[in-house]
Amino acid sequence: MNKPLILVVEDDNSVKNLITTTLKAHDYRYLTALNGGGAILEASSHNPDIVLLDLGLPDIDGVEVIKKIRTWSNMPIIVISARSEDTDKIDALDAGADDYLTKPFSVEELLARLRVTQRRLNMIQNEAAAEASVFTNGQLRIDYAAGCAYLGDDELHLTPIEYKLLCLLSRNIGKVLTHTFITQNIWGSSWDNDIASLRVFMATLRKKLEKDADSPQYIQTHIGVGYRMMKVE
Ligand code: CA
Repeated sequence: MNKPLILVVEDDNSVKNLITTTLKAHDYRYLTALNGGGAILEASSHNPDIVLLDLGLPDIDGVEVIKKIRTWSNMPIIVISARSEDTDKIDALDAGADDYLTKPFSVEELLARLRVTQRRLNMIQNEAAAEASVFTNGQLRIDYAAGCAYLGDDELHLTPIEYKLLCLLSRNIGKVLTHTFITQNIWGSSWDNDIASLRVFMATLRKKLEKDADSPQYIQTHIGVGYRMMKVE
């Protein structure tokens, strides 16, 4: 198998060097771009496996770069943002980014995000090959055609909304889904009320799904951002 090719888009040299040094040491290939224009050019001409995209770029906004790339490709995009750019991070996820890293981040965090994204890629490719109508993740199994979910041998007794939520998360496994994305998919709107309801339904879903609701295995909370289903080994 080829080493994964990562496109690193970062105008800050010290951050760029940290990333590329890490990639080199861990068997990744990489390309770099210093601005949004360069990012779009490199992404279209080299079709990288994953894009690491800084949101604060000198020419065009990182969110615009995501929208451009999404017009022709679903390649995974992990955005890198400063803590002060929290709303940008949510805009980036809503524009189609897969995950985010907040500066300053450690080498371990960077590698962990890359691994999550690669697992998600592999899973999507396997599923596409199998035309899967049954989803499995750890003990969880969802039979999309029958509309049933199981944990081990036991059927999960879910309300229609809990089931819809579980399917939405599973179909986007590994990807952080924002509150707005989820409520728009479940209720077709995103009022504050819906986000409050979402918390309630997520709590009841977790009670049924997670062995220990205080340290969830399947559904990760991203405070102020949204939720993600994790791949369980
Ligand atoms: Ca920057």
